[in-house]
Amino acid sequence: MAYLSLQGINKIYPNGFHAVHDFNLDIEQGEFICLVGPSGCGKSTTLRMIAGLENISKGDFLIDGVRANEMGPREREIAMVFQSYALYPHMSVYDNLAFGLTLQGVDDDVIEEKVNNIAKILGLTDYLDRKPRALSGGQRQRVAVGRAIIRKVGVFLMDEPLSNLDAKQRVTMRSEITDIHRKVGSTTIYVTHDQTEAMTMADRIVVMKDGYIQQVGTPYELYFNPVNMFVAGFIGEPPMNFVSSTVNGGCIEVLNSSVDISHILSDDTVKKYEGKTVALGFRPEGVVLGAQENSYVFEADVDLTELLGDNTNVYVSVGEDSFIIKVDPHDTPELDTRVTFSVPYANAYLFDGESEFVIEKK
Ligand code: ATP
Repeated sequence: MAYLSLQGINKIYPNGFHAVHDFNLDIEQGEFICLVGPSGCGKSTTLRMIAGLENISKGDFLIDGVRANEMGPREREIAMVFQSYALYPHMSVYDNLAFGLTLQGVDDDVIEEKVNNIAKILGLTDYLDRKPRALSGGQRQRVAVGRAIIRKVGVFLMDEPLSNLDAKQRVTMRSEITDIHRKVGSTTIYVTHDQTEAMTMADRIVVMKDGYIQQVGTPYELYFNPVNMFVAGFIGEPPMNFVSSTVNGGCIEVLNSSVDISHILSDDTVKKYEGKTVALGFRPEGVVLGAQENSYVFEADVDLTELLGDNTNVYVSVGEDSFIIKVDPHDTPELDTRVTFSVPYANAYLFDGESEFVIEKK
């Protein structure tokens, strides 16, 4: 039996807005789950229903097999870290960490042991006497995390906890949070709109759009086997390239080239899509410069190059079709030249132009 079970969860706000539709998910004890999706897709609403801060309009929420819909936030044994980490400014780091336990009437020596232990895990031992204003953003964030994990709770919820940090701090805190999760082992549900954060931290990712789950899977599954164009485009940076075209004689036109879809689809599927629209998708990093066998080979104009250090993003186009391809920085093509590149069949995806679902390859 799963530790947390969300069964057909819906949220309809009092103004009638249906923010979450039929959300189904089982979460095992100790799992690190990331909810990702664009702004407004229902991530925070889902998290707040799990926390007990928002009532569930329809469906069942079970903790360890027990229905928890009507349980108050405290009863649920859940701790939450929000975007704004709101530390008590007049209290020292020690007192901020100890506050929840003090309220519970825990003995001082037990509190001291716990605070010291958490401070050690979080690298805050040297800062226990400081007030929050004398800490960096990352250190404050660690205190906020520490305040949540110091209470022994079953579930740890985080809503965009790194959004107030700069890019470098985010990367550091990302690995710190996964490290803490490994040490503490609490079931964690983490909301972010940042797919890189989700890819690097999660055991499993839930991709949401417009209140609906699009796909649930490991980072590997979502990257290599996206179920639809939305997930394919959301996971990966720069995003997957797409071009739509009507199938004509088993081929589609891409960058003025004829792409024979029978190389990657079964004969029956090719027949089924004759006269219909499909979208070819491939990732910027899924291409090889030059012409190669067992690949779709394209020739395109080089419009822009962005050297990023470990690779270069090259913006290429022919007419209306434009793509980004990632190349080795030493192979960066000259601007305004033409470049030939190959998309190995194994790296090409086809999507149904209407439903946007991926078409199964042969
Ligand atoms: P973000 O990344 O911007 O925080 P989100 O994915 O967390 O977005 P939610 O905050 O869950 O999205 O909001 C989902 C939808 O529900 C949005 O369209 C939002 O406007 C709407 N919504 C949120 N709170 C309420 C409310 N109290 N009443 C009505 N609609 C609401």
